[in-house]
Amino acid sequence: MNLSIPATIQNYIGGRFQDPVKGIYLDNINPATGAVYGQIPNSTTEDVDLAVAAAEKAFPSWAATSPEHRFRIMNRMAELIEANLDALALAETNDNGKPLSLSKRVDIPRAAENFRFFATAIMHFASESHNMENRAINYTLRKPIGVVACISPWNLPLYLFTWKIAPALAAGNCVIAKPSEVTPMTAYLLCHIAAEAGLPEGVLNILHGDGLHCGSAMVVHPKVKAVSFTGSTRAGKDIAAQAGAVLKKTSLELGGKNPNIIFADCDWEKMMKTTVQSSFANQGQICLCGSRILVEESIYERFKTEFIAAVQQLTIGDPLEATSKQGAVVSKVHFDKVMSCIELAQSEGGRILLGGNAVQPEGRCANGYFIEPTIIEGLGPDCKTNMEEIFGPVVTLQSFKDEAEALALANCSDYGLAATIWTQDVSRAQRMASQVHSGIIWVNCWLLRDLRTPFGGFKNSGMGREGGWEALRFFTEPKNVCIEY
Ligand code: NAD
Repeated sequence: MNLSIPATIQNYIGGRFQDPVKGIYLDNINPATGAVYGQIPNSTTEDVDLAVAAAEKAFPSWAATSPEHRFRIMNRMAELIEANLDALALAETNDNGKPLSLSKRVDIPRAAENFRFFATAIMHFASESHNMENRAINYTLRKPIGVVACISPWNLPLYLFTWKIAPALAAGNCVIAKPSEVTPMTAYLLCHIAAEAGLPEGVLNILHGDGLHCGSAMVVHPKVKAVSFTGSTRAGKDIAAQAGAVLKKTSLELGGKNPNIIFADCDWEKMMKTTVQSSFANQGQICLCGSRILVEESIYERFKTEFIAAVQQLTIGDPLEATSKQGAVVSKVHFDKVMSCIELAQSEGGRILLGGNAVQPEGRCANGYFIEPTIIEGLGPDCKTNMEEIFGPVVTLQSFKDEAEALALANCSDYGLAATIWTQDVSRAQRMASQVHSGIIWVNCWLLRDLRTPFGGFKNSGMGREGGWEALRFFTEPKNVCIEY
């Protein structure tokens, strides 16, 4: 298998690599250097038509395969991802700007885990039966839907791409999938892995391009029966409107503005170490990062001093260097957005306690998009800085007096994806966990993931849930059969 990276990548349709029909391409940029290092198709409706036709053709025989057959191919894909960890991690880092150590430790292993998890899950997936005593028996069949679309963002490229594709394939669907146009490379390499693992042609089709031309053509295509999307709330609302008009099934995993609630009785060492990670891992570009840090008044000053000191230790620099803890943000557009959010915070009256500036490392990364981890205080809950998602290395600090105020601050957001609660008091942990408006709550930990659990958000953070049976239910159509006897 050849996992080398050509200067121009192609779409993967019906088991073959193909140029985009209209011959339009986008630059692919390494955000750590600012240099263009390749071209990717900007696919259009014509390419989507070809991919859907290939998927439709492949569907009857893929849907008829046994779960064991699908397990074997998908488990092989997991093994091939692991065997090629170094090449995939390097591709991920060159596209995204994240430290290579992070790609190796988190992104690529999790992509393998996604395939293995759903390959195994499909062999245990069962449907319900409801007995009507002495009258009838109902049983529910769960059938694959057909051709489904999976669209993913740039922050955890292969990790989130495979988190959708794996359950869709395991359930017997044929997939047309699009990674973010900003981070296409590991999705391109996955095509080689799928072919090597023996995934039949047309079962997985991977298109490249932007949301406007390629993504929306996938969403509106009449033969695409369901759309699984992860990305911004803005795009999620557009997709919901387009899909809603034709009653198409959607799963939407969207933005967040997550509270990190710290009580005075927490395990201080663990809280501090984890809060540095939950604030700045992946340059703060994880939908689950805690960007609003809420601290009990009695420990606020101590927290502030120690947190600043701990964040100052994060080395910013070339993502390929083992010492770099912070790499580049993903693109020039995103760099400009985050820098403008820092300016806005200051104009709203925020005080920058640490960071706030662009960084220009020496050497090959001198033109990359690096931003100092930034800590801001002095802003109330209603300002734009505390209401709108920044999705970068920027956090704010606010203090609270008691549980009621902590809860009010935590819930004062249009988002509701994740929350972290730090306390040793188990009753308080339970009270808070049940009242915070978020789909995911971590108590005394962060990003501890069991892939069987429901994953998704309240309010503007999305609709539907991924993970475990939730994902397999999304990617199947239930059919109830009632037999009177
Ligand atoms: P984005 O919405 O700009 O793009 C996401 C994907 O959707 C890309 O592949 C893009 O090309 C495509 N797209 C954009 N507009 C589209 C449209 N109208 N129709 C179809 N496809 C379209 O998001 P992004 O900037 O790539 O990612 C960052 C966002 O993703 C943040 O808001 C972050 O919170 C969110 N996110 C959420 C989760 C979650 O699980 N809830 C996980 C990661 C990221």
